[in-house]
Amino acid sequence: MEMMELSAAAVAQGDVPGSVCVRHGRPAARHVDFVIKSRPVMRRPGALETNLLSMAARMGEYGRRLVVVRAKRWPLCDRCVRIRFAGLLLATVMFWGGLVSVATAVVWRVASDSSVPWLMVPFGGGLLLALASVGPFVWGSLPRLPEPPPLKTACRSL
Ligand SMILES: [Zn+2]
Repeated sequence: MEMMELSAAAVAQGDVPGSVCVRHGRPAARHVDFVIKSRPVMRRPGALETNLLSMAARMGEYGRRLVVVRAKRWPLCDRCVRIRFAGLLLATVMFWGGLVSVATAVVWRVASDSSVPWLMVPFGGGLLLALASVGPFVWGSLPRLPEPPPLKTACRSL
């Protein structure tokens, strides 16, 4: 995988690859504004570090190492636009469809006089569907960043 480095300051000022898709190298079909969040690599906790205080310390360290940059006019090719649209549409349908299924099962159970065991299927299935919507949401999302060095952000071309 080829890597391309952009400084966080340059991205925040709109200094992004102007007319070429970073992921595919194809001409940009659309430009979008979004927020890039780094993914800090954290040390795995030891067996004795699983208490509440060490968890809070790790969360604090994660917050200090996290870099958030607003990217303006980021170029997307037609393929990226289609992937993004399909991923976000699928995630939306799965999430809201799952919630409607759960709500329907709950309302049905409340409205019925006796126990209805098969309602666990739309209830559990809807819950799983809503939770699984994270998958297509991530698939349709924009670039991910590995651990950024200080004052500089490395942008991985996907
Ligand atoms: Zn692309």
